[in-house]
Amino acid sequence: MKELLLIPGPTPVSEEVLDALSNETISHTSDRFVKILSNCLNNVKIIFGAKNSTPFIIAGSGTLGMEMALTNILDDNDNLLVISHGFFGDRFVELGNALGVKVDVLKSNAGETVCLEEISKKLKEKQYSAVTITHVDTSTGVLADVKKITEVVKKNSPDTLIVLDGVCATGGVKEKMDEWGIDVIFTGSQKAMATPPGLTMLAFSNRAIEKRKILKKTRTYYGDILRWIPVVEDPHKYFATPAVNMVFALEKSLENIMEFGLKNYFEKHELLSRKIRNAMELFGFELLSKNSPAPTLSVFKYPVGISDIDFRRLLEKRRVVVAPALGELKGHYFRMGHMGSLTEEELFVALKRIMEVLEKMGLRFDKGKILKTFVES
Ligand code: PMP
Repeated sequence: MKELLLIPGPTPVSEEVLDALSNETISHTSDRFVKILSNCLNNVKIIFGAKNSTPFIIAGSGTLGMEMALTNILDDNDNLLVISHGFFGDRFVELGNALGVKVDVLKSNAGETVCLEEISKKLKEKQYSAVTITHVDTSTGVLADVKKITEVVKKNSPDTLIVLDGVCATGGVKEKMDEWGIDVIFTGSQKAMATPPGLTMLAFSNRAIEKRKILKKTRTYYGDILRWIPVVEDPHKYFATPAVNMVFALEKSLENIMEFGLKNYFEKHELLSRKIRNAMELFGFELLSKNSPAPTLSVFKYPVGISDIDFRRLLEKRRVVVAPALGELKGHYFRMGHMGSLTEEELFVALKRIMEVLEKMGLRFDKGKILKTFVES
């Protein structure tokens, strides 16, 4: 049996996409490659809802996307407000500190969201150059209400630039960059984009590009959008060599998503998350982010008596890989990704393997009811 990679990224990559990756490498400035990169840039714009913004595809992981977002819009003493729903929200605090900007953070309890009143209050206290939102925090499975947060930012501080980390969301959850007034959005190739890790895709609004142009200091060379803009406008131009084969793979995966239909793709994520959660609940697992659950991953609390290490080890023996929880949640919860190219059939197989493991670990449950719940949810 093929290993089922149900960690929250990287996610399973289809044979077709892997085949595309192994195509013969071609010149990065050839007409053939220009066409492929242009296709990808167009599809990235569609997925981000970024018709009026400038897209980029750069070799590097999601963290490069985070870094490019901040280095291109913040000067040394600019104020940054971070809205954090977990580990990846907190990463913006570390990044802001590393860049020497002034960082304030609004943090929620694990599994909960920062309330809109708190954001509104903070924005009235100080002028922030930028605010960051993590669409889905992969440590807690919390989905931020991005539309509502952007409305609060626009109302209280219209000049504040809005940065959205879509790494664990883009493709699995609707994003409307232009409509919601997002200034920088980025994602990684390895999650709902169903491509191997290695690329970050971003888009910058005109307002964000204008801010880059007036920065006093250039904090990045490779990640400087002003060096990449000529390339995305005409990919015959060279700045730094693109990851040619990774772009082949991305093109194939984006083509598959577009053929499937973006709306259907969002709905598939909703459906799979509902099915697995309803079934897992019957074993006694509890979802961490009950009030704002993300459709891309679930963070489940173990029923009493089930050891994290043993559960994941026994599951891995049956070729289903899930991830440990992060930070204070480690040992008590585990994380399961259900995004990208994953199918209902594959998730059903995973559920059956989980059932075998839990049975072996001594848990009692009604098998028929659990399988039926999955099928009928
Ligand atoms: N943001 C979020 C929400 C993430 O889930 C991750 C990776 N899990 C990152 C940023 C960082 O991405 P990468 O590991 O690709 O650098």
